[in-house]
Amino acid sequence: MFEELKERYRAFCEWQKVPHHVKPMSDEEHQCSTCGRRYVGNFCPQCGQSAQVGRYSFKNAFLLYLDVWGLGNRGMFRTIRDLFLRPGYMIRDYLNGMQMAYFPPFKMLFLIITLSLLVNTGLNIKGENRLQANHEHLVQDYQTSLGKGGQTDRGEQLTASGSEQQTASGSEQQAAAAKAPTADEEPPRKKVDTQTAFNKMALDFNEWQNNHMAIFNLILLIPLSWMLFLAFRHSPNIPDMRFAEFFVAMVYMSNLMSMVTIVMDFFCLDETLQIATYPLIIVPLKQLTGYGYVRCILSALLAFMLAMLLLFMAMLAVGIVYAIIMR
Ligand SMILES: [Zn+2]
Repeated sequence: MFEELKERYRAFCEWQKVPHHVKPMSDEEHQCSTCGRRYVGNFCPQCGQSAQVGRYSFKNAFLLYLDVWGLGNRGMFRTIRDLFLRPGYMIRDYLNGMQMAYFPPFKMLFLIITLSLLVNTGLNIKGENRLQANHEHLVQDYQTSLGKGGQTDRGEQLTASGSEQQTASGSEQQAAAAKAPTADEEPPRKKVDTQTAFNKMALDFNEWQNNHMAIFNLILLIPLSWMLFLAFRHSPNIPDMRFAEFFVAMVYMSNLMSMVTIVMDFFCLDETLQIATYPLIIVPLKQLTGYGYVRCILSALLAFMLAMLLLFMAMLAVGIVYAIIMR
């Protein structure tokens, strides 16, 4: 029993490494339905029409519908399967030039973001608009902190006027009377504390993110890709990796994580659980680079922490700018 499982696992590992195999071409002759040329092969050499075109059926009507989304013939399903079962080897094959076998990474990213938007704006088991809920939550946070700032302001004014009333009964009546108008002369602007400024930043940030989902995801990928690239650019499998190649690999890996996130979003799981998708980067990194698990996990952790630190510092800098502008 155990031996059998081991044997199956070994066969699976072998299968993982084998690149996609394109079926051999049949010798059957076709006549092109567009230009009439007779030829052997899958596509007409004169006008490029596929040999598969025949009478309409629901199946090819559906494929034409998928083609609108760019899914018709470029192996979307194979790409999804391989991203889950042999991600690093698939990315290796794609980088080595097997581009017809797999769905292009950036196109996939845009489609995944579209799907993610659909799921997060209502296509989930609760039927709720999670983006809007999240946004409203941030608006509330901002307004609460604004209100708090206003309250402490008013509180100070109250105690100030209280003390004025007390002193008014005393001999310093004139001094107090002179003091009060100067306090009123100051413009009634609310003090903005750091908390409010940061909440405002989070709110603006969220708005921008919701409106520019694809760009946001790509920008977020850059620091992490760069840090990971530094750790993996001279790997046993690819000793001279370019950053552009690694970035393409990263887009595929983030697509893999996003697909799991979309499923989690569909079931309306808590957003913090998305951390559970981060380890999904380890297996592709290992398969792609040829390093062991320990090296991959340690490097990924370090790269992740450094990227987080970078992002945190960037956020902090923007937050400080906000605090200065709003003051
Ligand atoms: Zn033709």
